[in-house]
Amino acid sequence: MRDAVEARDGADMAENQDWRLATLADKKAIEKTPFGEMCPFSSVTQMVAASCETRGDAPAVSFQLKGGPSDRVFTLSYAELWRQVTAFANALHERGVKPGDTIALVLPNLPETVVALLAAQTLGVALPINPLLEAEAIGGILDESGATAVVTLRSFMKTDVPQKVAEALESAPKVREVVQIDLLPYLPALLKPIAAVLRPKSPFPSALHVGDMRKLIKSAPSDKLRFVRDCGPDDIGAYYHTGGTTGSPKLAMHTHRSMLANAWTISRLILTEKDVALVALPIFHVFASYVLTLAPLAAGGHIVLVSPQGFRGDGVMDNFWKLIERHRATFLAAVPTALAALDLRPVNADVSSLRYMISGSAPLPTALFRRFESNTGVRILEGYGMTEATCVSSCNPPDGERKIGSVGYPIPWMDVAICAFDGNGQFSRACADGEIGEICFSGASVFGGYKDPARTAAVFFDRPDAPGRWLRTGDLGRIDSDGYIWITGRAKDLIIRGGHNIDPGLIEEALAEHPAVAFVGAIGQPDAYSGEMPCAYVELKPGAKVTEQELLDFATEHVHERAARPATIQVMAELPKTAVGKTFKPALRKEAIARVFGEALAKAGLEASVSVVDDPELGMCAEVTPTGAFDDAKAKEALDGFARPWRLVS
Ligand code: AMP
Repeated sequence: MRDAVEARDGADMAENQDWRLATLADKKAIEKTPFGEMCPFSSVTQMVAASCETRGDAPAVSFQLKGGPSDRVFTLSYAELWRQVTAFANALHERGVKPGDTIALVLPNLPETVVALLAAQTLGVALPINPLLEAEAIGGILDESGATAVVTLRSFMKTDVPQKVAEALESAPKVREVVQIDLLPYLPALLKPIAAVLRPKSPFPSALHVGDMRKLIKSAPSDKLRFVRDCGPDDIGAYYHTGGTTGSPKLAMHTHRSMLANAWTISRLILTEKDVALVALPIFHVFASYVLTLAPLAAGGHIVLVSPQGFRGDGVMDNFWKLIERHRATFLAAVPTALAALDLRPVNADVSSLRYMISGSAPLPTALFRRFESNTGVRILEGYGMTEATCVSSCNPPDGERKIGSVGYPIPWMDVAICAFDGNGQFSRACADGEIGEICFSGASVFGGYKDPARTAAVFFDRPDAPGRWLRTGDLGRIDSDGYIWITGRAKDLIIRGGHNIDPGLIEEALAEHPAVAFVGAIGQPDAYSGEMPCAYVELKPGAKVTEQELLDFATEHVHERAARPATIQVMAELPKTAVGKTFKPALRKEAIARVFGEALAKAGLEASVSVVDDPELGMCAEVTPTGAFDDAKAKEALDGFARPWRLVS
């Protein structure tokens, strides 16, 4: 258990002595000093600047365009990183971006993404946006944030990001500045001339002020900032979007305090300047932004971005072990779907440099946890995070007992409580020890609210029995007698079969044990009698073959709660996943509604197609379009028994 810690040399151990976190008593001892007194910084900019000053020529950010184990690597030293951050912040300011303005980054993982993130937080508020979103969603986020500048890719082959940004700008009138990053310098010399010729036309209107990031950095002063931004811990440093994938995602505001309380605390707990973090998750999401980028930079470590698309990049998965060997990576963070995909690839390189890996975002199946550790020697710390808690809210202790299946206890300066709420959503009481309720947090890492105050009111609450502002997570769980948190489900993911609550995790864990199964997502499909029936979607391992009936039989045998046995199991070529790789259940729910409604109409002898849309008032709503023989009254009879709303579309 202590191997990884004792492998550090004496100096590191001394440096991290105060921060050894093995038990809850250690956490309480650390917290004796209030966070504001313990942390020497008042902004993340100051935190990274301090590393840049002390680490000088040491490598800060490396990048390779593809996952090839001998591909060219581009590296920025700490000194160069700070020079670029300063120059880019100055350049944006010279072009009219004011201190405190919001600067959006619609970017994949590039060294420039790190520079732009830090420059945006130096000058104002950074708004990382998932570049895979559709133009409409990007436009909605830009508009809601009031961003005045956007940093994105220059038009290039095989990417539609600039085109989507150009379209998105039509709904974001406040954006006056666009800065582009050209991928050309990263191509091998032989390909550069061809790529330059094949480059698509710029999609941005000529009236827009469009600049080139590298040229701006070259021409702006890089010795010191030429503007004043009074920035303290209560100021907002970033907006991260979360939730909806269409229409209106929520914008979570991160204060410099919450960002420091996460990144700096994690760095002090597990990282040193000797660490090398392999970054294969997208930086626009909190997991990679804080755990894999800001925390290692706070420690003075080295981050290595393996391809702009991370795990999805060319060759990254297939060469993952070789990339670890090549970069002598010590630190990883990953989500269970990526670990399951890596698990299918035998370790074919020396990965003995690995020390820690944080797994989070979704539950990590126990069997996978054990197999991954024994195959790689890495020490897995399962953590629990959410955008509203800035990132990590709890984690298994790096130096203490890890309980597989639990998400550990809150990180220093965070408190947890399991709470019960009444039918109106009002806090009614704190749950008894071991009792399941909604997991709630309070403390320094809790975010500053959503950009939309109405949404903020819905997640925060006061407790008459405990001080502080408390955050509702929407996740269900319990705390054991040692203080470890166990997530038992997600309030909104529960399958409710005739009033009986079913945890989808029961079905997912059971089916994941089948040798042919790679990923499982269980949801409730509409049912006229029970309201919902459990249903599972399955993605098979490459080359595996199994029938749906065989999987149903397996489920009957292995899902021990009778009511939770899935009524239907559907095999999909690939399960829909979010950008970080979590199974995207809303897409599965839509598929299930369309399928069940389609079957009900066919049974009534009606010919129609069914699609499912997100209605702002009704939620998921089925739209029925007649395609042949059809009768409105019969359709009503066939579908009105379902609780899910539907409408006819002519
Ligand atoms: P996001 O804000 O996109 O990072 O999503 C946060 C949500 O991910 C949480 O509210 C949980 O539902 C889920 N989550 C995060 N970590 C875990 C974990 N270790 N196990 C289960 N669910 C998790």
